[in-house]
This record gives sequence, structure tokens and C-alpha cells, in this order.
Amino acid sequence: MFDAHTHLQDARLAGCREDVLRAAAAAGVTGLCACGTSPADWDGVAALAAAASPVVIHPAFGVHPWFCDDLPADWLERLDACLLAHPGAAVGEIGIDGLRRASDPPRQRRVFTAQVELAIRRRRTVIVHGARCWGALADLLQPYAARLPGLVLHAFAASEPLVQTFMAQGAFFSVGGALCNPGARRVQAAAAAIPLDRLLLETDAPDMLPRGGLPIASPPAPPGLNQPANLPRVARALAALKGLDEAAVAAATGRQARRVYGVSD
Ligand SMILES: [Zn+2]
Repeated sequence: MFDAHTHLQDARLAGCREDVLRAAAAAGVTGLCACGTSPADWDGVAALAAAASPVVIHPAFGVHPWFCDDLPADWLERLDACLLAHPGAAVGEIGIDGLRRASDPPRQRRVFTAQVELAIRRRRTVIVHGARCWGALADLLQPYAARLPGLVLHAFAASEPLVQTFMAQGAFFSVGGALCNPGARRVQAAAAAIPLDRLLLETDAPDMLPRGGLPIASPPAPPGLNQPANLPRVARALAALKGLDEAAVAAATGRQARRVYGVSD
């Protein structure tokens, strides 16, 4: 299994990251993507990618839509330097956000499209956040989609017509622990509409602890944090939703994640 979207560099995991990676491996997770969110955590992503680990760690560097304010003037050059130093790395987590307008929407869009253009120039997969503004995101991506080597939509939850639009843009759709919540109808309907060969699994650890999931137990982690070891729970929920075998869902989504991230088996 491959966890297509985590933030394992998160400072809240200091002191327990090795335990978290061991638990992930024991749960059958063989690889994960660690997504950066701002220049402040790119060194953490790079350190994770360089460290010995029982799980393959694929790095991604980017500016999340919540952190578009107060960027250093040279942020895009620094991002490019991270990409050049990590030839296989993805560009993420980038995007636009309709939930929490920490940055004003025009600035979010400017920061997003600058990163998409850089990803095209450096031939990298992008990992995109589009919470509550998937339609606007589809419009923004349209001029770029054909030139992107890979497009991953994180925590995807949009209606059927948009699934078709993003399918035509070549997207992979990453779904997470919200699937374990029977009340999350939007997420379930989206996952039901997407063919298995376009789906990926994610935990978004250390956030988004799924219903019934195991929080990180090791001190000094704060209580209630999610971990990649909960990925089988997401695989089980997706398999049940689609009436498929859990092992087949785990294998297909793992294969697809490795392909879009360029990680060898
Ligand atoms: Zn995330």
C-alpha cells in the first residue's frame, strides 16, 4: 500500500516519527509521499527523504493555499532549488481553498499557477488541494493539464460532472479517512463515481484521524494524531463502497501512486 498524501515532516511528530514509520511498515504500507506546505517545512521533507526508513518516503515541495501570505521574496527560486536537488520530487501540496480563506483568493491563485508552471518546466507531478472550490480549480488547471506529467487531487470530494472534467485532465483522485465516516456522502459519491484505475489512498497524517482509526500512541505526540498505519482502514472502506476485494484495491492504488510519483516497486 502507498500513502499518497502525508505531512510526516510535521513538527508535532518530533520524537515519534520512527515509531510511526515502523507502525506503517507493520500495517503493510510500503511507501508514502511527504508533502511540504511552506518554505518553513521543506528542510524537514528533505531530511525525511534522506533518512533511512522502513517505508519508502517520496518528497514533495510546495506552498499550501493556507500559507500564501508572507512568503519570502525568493520563495519560487527556493522551491526550484528543492526540485533540482530532488530530481524525482513532486510539487505539492499546492492549490486553492474555499474553506478557510487565510490568504486572499487572487493571491492563492497566483501562488498556485506559478507552482504549476514551475512543475511543467521541471516535468514534475503536482499534488493539488481544492477543498470546496473544485470547479474553480478545474478551470484554473485547464490550460496546463495537458502539459503536466502527473496530476494528483488530494482529499477529492466533488460531484460527478467534475469527476469527468478532471478525468479528461488526466487526474488521479486521492481519497482518505473521510470515507470511513458513513455521513460523508459527498466523499462517498465521488469515490463511487471514479474508476479504480484512477484512485489513490491517503491518510493526510498527522491530521484527519479516521473514525475508528488508531491515534499515534507514542509520547511526546499530542493526542488524536493520525498515522499512515491507518491506511488499511481507508482501503477497506473504499473496497466496501465499490464492492471490490480489499487486497485488489490496495494493490491497484499502490501501483498507481508509484507510477504517478515515479517511485520504483
Ligand atoms: Zn495535506
